[in-house]
Amino acid sequence: MTAPTAPADLSRLCLHTITTKPWAIETAAAKFASAGVKGITVWRDTLVGRDIPATGRMLRDHGLSVVSLCRGGFFPAATPRDRAQALDDNRRAIAEAHALGAPQVVLVCGALPGQSLPESRKQIAEGIAALLPECQSSGVRLAIEPLHPMYADSRSAVNTLGQANDMAESLNSPHVGVAVDVYHLWWDPTLEREIARCGRLGALFAFHMSDWRTPTVDFLNDRGLMGEGCIPIGQIRSWVESAGFTGFHEVEIFSNRLWATDQDVFLGNIVQAYLAHG
Ligand code: ZN
Repeated sequence: MTAPTAPADLSRLCLHTITTKPWAIETAAAKFASAGVKGITVWRDTLVGRDIPATGRMLRDHGLSVVSLCRGGFFPAATPRDRAQALDDNRRAIAEAHALGAPQVVLVCGALPGQSLPESRKQIAEGIAALLPECQSSGVRLAIEPLHPMYADSRSAVNTLGQANDMAESLNSPHVGVAVDVYHLWWDPTLEREIARCGRLGALFAFHMSDWRTPTVDFLNDRGLMGEGCIPIGQIRSWVESAGFTGFHEVEIFSNRLWATDQDVFLGNIVQAYLAHG
């Protein structure tokens, strides 16, 4: 197999607002655009108290494509009442995505300590199925994001791309697909095969990148900049592209270490790291 080539330019580079968490969304939009970034994935916390349609227009006025809204999900819960509340929050997320002009909501599907993983997966699938009417009326899609198994206790009972593909396949809706994040999936020996399958299903909705540091000092907030860790990002990107994916390459980094640095310098480093290792 030929070695993957680095991205040629920034035309497919998207940043998540949480990557530069210290910046308000207006600041992020202006800085991303002036750095040549073309896409933005918006985290819902940045929209609190804002006029969402006006925020969407502001982003597009900067020349940014709104790639995704993060995030919905967290379907499993101990009682029907709590599961209904989770559905209501997901309906709000779909409405926010529609108002913002984001084509899809990324799902961190949820899990419940003490509840079996198969039961949580059943509740996740039922939850997504219950949202399909809102997806159909709004046009907003849902992207199931499998999370690394270290989060199987409380953040997601969907931990492999195979499980996410199974769920998307059985839900069998053009509004349900998968977000492939290298941080969560790089270790999986079936990854190349499952990425190809995801493409055949027409379900490859998003591609997220960051890197895995050794040692990782915080399970949530110690992701690395591309090139700082051991993930073969370019190889995984080549598999995603071989599967027919033509969307954005989304840089999604949660890092207490990097959030504490000068965010203008960090943004410049992200662009350079993307061109070298993305
Ligand atoms: Zn992700």
